Amino acid sequence: MFKSQAIFQNAYKKKFSEIAGKKYEDGTAWEQYQTLVMLIMEQIKLNWNQTNCNNAVNKKKQVYYFSMEFLIGKLLPYYLTNLGIGEVVQKGLKVLGIDLDILIDQEKDAGLGNGGLGRLAACFLDSMAFMGIPGHGNGIRYQFGLFEQKIVNGFQVEAQEEWLKEGYPWEIKKPEKSVIIKYFGNVDTVNNNGKLTFIHENYESVLAVPYDVPIVSYDSNENINTLRLWCAEPPADRQDYEPSCHQSAISHVLYPDDFSQSGKQLRLEQEYFFVAAGLSSIIQHFKKHNNSIFDLPNKVAVHINDTHPALCVPELMRILIDEEGIDWEDAWDITVNTISYTNHTIMPEALEKWQLHLVRYLLPRISMIIEEIDKRFKQDISSKNLANSELMRNTAIIWDDEIRMANLAVIGSHSVNGVSKLHSEILKNNVQPEFNTIYPHKYNNKTNGISHRRFLMEANPGLAELITQAIGEGWKKNSFELNNLVAYKEDSSFLTRLSEVKFRNKCRLQEYLFKTQGIKINPNAIFDVQVKRIHAYKRQLLNTLKIMDIYNLIKDHSHFTDVQHVFIFGGKAAPGYHYAKTIIKLINALAQKINKDQDLNDQLKVVFVENFNVSIAELIYPAADISEQISTASREASGTGNMKFMFNGAVTLGTPDGANVEIRNKVGDENIEIFGLTSDEVINYYRLGGYNALNEYENNPRLKIVIDQLVNGFFPDIEKEYQIIYNSLLEENDQFFVLKDFNPYIEGFNKLSLHFKKTESWQKTCLTNIAKAGYFSSDRSIKEYNQDIWRVDNTR
Ligand SMILES: *Cc1c(COP(=O)(O)O)cnc(C)c1O
Repeated sequence: MFKSQAIFQNAYKKKFSEIAGKKYEDGTAWEQYQTLVMLIMEQIKLNWNQTNCNNAVNKKKQVYYFSMEFLIGKLLPYYLTNLGIGEVVQKGLKVLGIDLDILIDQEKDAGLGNGGLGRLAACFLDSMAFMGIPGHGNGIRYQFGLFEQKIVNGFQVEAQEEWLKEGYPWEIKKPEKSVIIKYFGNVDTVNNNGKLTFIHENYESVLAVPYDVPIVSYDSNENINTLRLWCAEPPADRQDYEPSCHQSAISHVLYPDDFSQSGKQLRLEQEYFFVAAGLSSIIQHFKKHNNSIFDLPNKVAVHINDTHPALCVPELMRILIDEEGIDWEDAWDITVNTISYTNHTIMPEALEKWQLHLVRYLLPRISMIIEEIDKRFKQDISSKNLANSELMRNTAIIWDDEIRMANLAVIGSHSVNGVSKLHSEILKNNVQPEFNTIYPHKYNNKTNGISHRRFLMEANPGLAELITQAIGEGWKKNSFELNNLVAYKEDSSFLTRLSEVKFRNKCRLQEYLFKTQGIKINPNAIFDVQVKRIHAYKRQLLNTLKIMDIYNLIKDHSHFTDVQHVFIFGGKAAPGYHYAKTIIKLINALAQKINKDQDLNDQLKVVFVENFNVSIAELIYPAADISEQISTASREASGTGNMKFMFNGAVTLGTPDGANVEIRNKVGDENIEIFGLTSDEVINYYRLGGYNALNEYENNPRLKIVIDQLVNGFFPDIEKEYQIIYNSLLEENDQFFVLKDFNPYIEGFNKLSLHFKKTESWQKTCLTNIAKAGYFSSDRSIKEYNQDIWRVDNTR
């Protein structure tokens, strides 16, 4: 593809005049961007069709990754990297007087996810393609993403995220592959000579139309996978209906995962929508190329990312029984052997439940099947003498007239994995011990990973170049080769260049923040960064209280350091999550107070970066010195932000939670700062009904001051808006152990700040973090998924 710069330039000029009907010099940036996209898509399509043909001919097993979210970010830089044409294109455009960065700016981030879960799915797509696994994404083409976040007077304001407004040039609509999805109505059970058949009548149909996005592999254009996103339209015979009608509303907007929006009928409609559409197209494709439906588990793996696609279990049963005429027992074997499940949370309030009556009303045949699965499961455990009342209560799919999706997913799949070692242990020992007794063989761990090609190669070209100069290019394909950097630990010129790269990345972020938010920060300061969704368990509050404490000490003249600190926050709060939105306001109020205080001599700055998304993340991770990973132990299943920081040489300040534990094991205690309660301690406290938060408050004078400052007029505040935070700590007894971890956190932070001043030692720690990050590439995660769960013959 574009073997030389000249070939590219000629192709580009020709394509431009073809589509815009004028010379490229006169084009707008959007037209110039469109031209580049079309050129790339033309090349991709050649191999894409070929991949599909090869897959059909070779009858290879296919993996389908079902996820409600794919947070893919911009695709232009991704294709340039993975097709290996970044340099040719950039230089070629430059000769034509076109700046590639301006073209990249034309693309909007596809807003198809909330945060970590959706980004994981995107990283997995990249790694499946790279590992030579025919692995495809199946999701929803939301017309509007989560929302665009603006900060107005310190408050989060949500605007519609119109990522599709100018069209999305990387997708191809496939109307001929549309599928009808049926909702509502009733089921007529007919007895045909002793065999029951089920006829779904009086239903309302919705047309699911697929849009395919190509997923290319780094360094091999041969295997091109597909991300299939489904869009809802009124069915063909109903197109005269109002466009606002219920049918097309299904793929209208992504729901925020605020852990408490459960029960929304439209959300359930969305879940069934992409499950039914995806499975229907999979089965059609399978039957075209295979003879026996009994062969399904050998040719198809359906992986469900969290419980949102757990309706795959009853829907596959429905297809096998009602459409393929298979009896229950066989259908069950096929279903269980085809489906595998990843659990993402142990927080009880986050476990998905649906009212039985809602499912009966919306999906009458599906609810029948779920009830039958539930009944048979209960019979089965009773017959094996496993049943006791506790086990029955904890494992039931249907309980208190609710359907528990996690239990459905565990019972209906052959593999259940957590996303870090710690999380997998907690899942099997503390959350689902009964299932672990019944199905010990199902449980396994797959520690998350991230695409080091996106978050290091692409996001941090300076560091990528430095690494390549030192150890060659092999690390791009085999992230474990980063370990060869250990040899440079005593090489002071290398360490200096490493900190020069970091400095330039900090300047890049400084420029961005000045341009977009008018804020001035000093790139020589320590950049202490916490960017992620705003959530009580992630404890942005703990970080905020820390900064208030430092502020108080400086004002009190009892504290002075010659290192300056810039505290950077970013992240969206779910629109209905009042507490999280108050935290955002608090951070901004603190920023206001600190940033304009002349006494501080610029020792402190606080910045809240607006609208944290993948593109902004790619600017922030490479610029960080300290990576804040301070969740209440046991609550963060893995985290992936922690890994992105690590690849970019930031040092983790974190709790012993999720993958932080594994990061510590890789880098050693001297290259990370882990503090606070352990997950066992937290779980024990929960069992005992909590700890005495008031005690911490009363016996810690500095802590008492900052907590009082939430409500005593320290912040200009007529509405007592931070009272709910104050109450959460004292009246509600601090469910997330913020006060309990305050002192150890301050200590850990001070240690890192002192360490930062010992420049060479700090650089070594950064280097060690990069060198040991290889394990956290999603290439490694996907390799394990394939070896243990999907078992596809792959090429790498
Ligand atoms: C990686 C990532 C996340 C997840 O961050 P955590 O720190 O693991 O919660 C969220 N949002 C975006 C845009 C990301 O890139």
